[in-house]
Amino acid sequence: MTGATLITANGAVEADLRVRDGVVREIGPALTPLEDELVLQLEGQWVGPGFVDLHTHLREPGGESSETIASGARAGIVGGYTALVAMPNTEPALDTVALVSFVLAEGARTPISIAVAGSITQNREGQQLAPMAEMAQLGVRVFTDDGSGVQNAGVMRRALSYAKPLGVRLAQHCEDDSLVGSGVVNEGPLAESLGLSGRSTLAEEIMVQRDIDLLRSTGGSLHFLHLSTARSIELVKNAKAEGLDVTCEVTPHHLTLDESACATYDPLFKVHPPLRSSLDVFALREALGRGHIDAVATDHAPHAPESKDRAFDEAPAGLLGLETAASLTYEALGQSSCDPVLFYSVLSRGPARVAQLRANDNPVGLSAQGGALQVGEAANLTAFDPSVQWRVDASALQSRASNTPYADRVMIGRVSTVISKGVLVLREGVLQ
Ligand SMILES: [Zn+2]
Repeated sequence: MTGATLITANGAVEADLRVRDGVVREIGPALTPLEDELVLQLEGQWVGPGFVDLHTHLREPGGESSETIASGARAGIVGGYTALVAMPNTEPALDTVALVSFVLAEGARTPISIAVAGSITQNREGQQLAPMAEMAQLGVRVFTDDGSGVQNAGVMRRALSYAKPLGVRLAQHCEDDSLVGSGVVNEGPLAESLGLSGRSTLAEEIMVQRDIDLLRSTGGSLHFLHLSTARSIELVKNAKAEGLDVTCEVTPHHLTLDESACATYDPLFKVHPPLRSSLDVFALREALGRGHIDAVATDHAPHAPESKDRAFDEAPAGLLGLETAASLTYEALGQSSCDPVLFYSVLSRGPARVAQLRANDNPVGLSAQGGALQVGEAANLTAFDPSVQWRVDASALQSRASNTPYADRVMIGRVSTVISKGVLVLREGVLQ
């Protein structure tokens, strides 16, 4: 690779980079091309570690009309991802060794690394703990009942205690069912004027606070999925300052859309937790820019057209994320003032750390993810062109679904090139 700004352990540097046999072999100014070497001209682009998504709904098994592991991996590559963590709210839920093994085996057939988040409780019902120890032996490092939060505090405390000696991280979808009720948009004046029932910010914040308190009593580590309010971010920041092992993610959509988008009654904007006030969006962006957020995670939630094409309050929640996340993260970080080191930190290094994907000897055979570019490191690399403008074409997405709220939106900055496990899998935006 030549012409790019490389994101290395020493920050952003202008240098060439050579990959051979799956490994970064050389970094330096003006490397001389070897005979028969493919030279990628990446003038003006950034090259850093491949992106890692902590939060992908691959829908397989059970939801193959919306997405498959293979199609989700293709969407991931176009979005710059070299590793995805598959969420367990499939049909059936990923709560046994057999089901986790199936997804890992299918994932191993894709060009990127597919890790699995196992369920905390059996069938994600929030009652009996799933066999986390057995799943952990397969290399599962994150457990969640995502789609819903673990409602019962006693169950969550037992889960945290059980997870701690396993060295795995629990991840919580924070919404208290008793407070969300039948809500479909952010609770407040806009919901009232639209005649739609609201989901309170309190529903999220009370569970964030509860889980921080539980973690303080049990020890262990806990990740907060898709935080959407200013207060949630504040709670996590304080818990970190206290020394608790908590991490958090925000989504591209909560960083770039507010509740006003729901005034169209277009169910493409329906998501859980809901799009919030512009003040919350501002707070999320500010926290991201200050480095208080560990990861931008997509919550990529494909829905087949027939299921999403309903009235707002009946449609399923969720939207596509993988193929637009990098551009939206760039937008949230200020575009021309975006710090490339922070950009790769929230899209790669941070999520890899949360998912424990750094080790080369990971038992599921994942190659190291999220490392700074350096000689000897496995070549999982993503190039992002911060200057290119493009328009989102929902029909051209690699995902099997097309439920993006960003159709026809003009974006700035796009992933151009991806090398996964040393293999060129995306070149100038085209799958190889
Ligand atoms: Zn969720």
